[in-house]
Amino acid sequence: MFEAGQKRRKFAVGNWKMNGSIATNKALLEKLAAGVKDFHDADCVVCVPYPYLCQAQQLLQGSNIAWGAQNICSTKNGALTGAVAPHMLVDYGCRHVLIGHSERRSQFHETDDTAAARFLAAQEAGITPIFCMGESADERDSDWTEYIVGRQLDSLIRRFGPYVLKNAILAYEPLWAVGSDQPATPEQAQEVHAFIRKRIARCDAEVAARVPILYGGSVTAANALGLFSMPDIDGGLIGRASLKAEEFIAITRAANQAAARN
Ligand code: PEP
Repeated sequence: MFEAGQKRRKFAVGNWKMNGSIATNKALLEKLAAGVKDFHDADCVVCVPYPYLCQAQQLLQGSNIAWGAQNICSTKNGALTGAVAPHMLVDYGCRHVLIGHSERRSQFHETDDTAAARFLAAQEAGITPIFCMGESADERDSDWTEYIVGRQLDSLIRRFGPYVLKNAILAYEPLWAVGSDQPATPEQAQEVHAFIRKRIARCDAEVAARVPILYGGSVTAANALGLFSMPDIDGGLIGRASLKAEEFIAITRAANQAAARN
């Protein structure tokens, strides 16, 4: 049971996308593990390409960094060339998986339906889904942000009910901010995070109060603390900056500081 007044944890989640090599990962993970070892108020996670899960497991076991994947198949086994089943991620100690990232939606034909199925498959395997939502620049300009984000959120709540968010993390990632060097301001992001939380609260106030909602889109060491200090922003999902050890350590420090101040 979530106690009134209990704090939500903050997160710094790195999304490596299709980057890395055995050699560069080793250097990055060793620096990260050393750099975040004293941060106990925030959770640090790296979501790596499938081939590097084994390396992440070997290097991060015993550290305070968790590792995860960037996608999952909604089916358990079978004739699905190129797909990776939930139990395979569990075999490599994955605790998290990204679901419905905008790059999966735009370049790999991910839909609300397929994202919802993957979300549930992850949860059923005991992996925490990090469910991504966000509007494009055109949609924001047309004042459709709440409609788009609301639809993406409802694609889970309508299918599975609000309690499915008890073991989940949400990420607001406006498409115009991802990979663009044009982050949302803390106020812009906070407005959408508050909208998400209120929409969940219409179904269940406790779930709404408890679910972590991360912001993603051009987070850097310089802007992280401002974003993570907003009341409904529980840390970040970080792309490019998670590939630079010093930068990602500083972002995790910001998450830790914001959590400690809460
Ligand atoms: C992302 O891809 O999830 C992301 C937020 O990327 P970046 O931090 O590079 O904008």
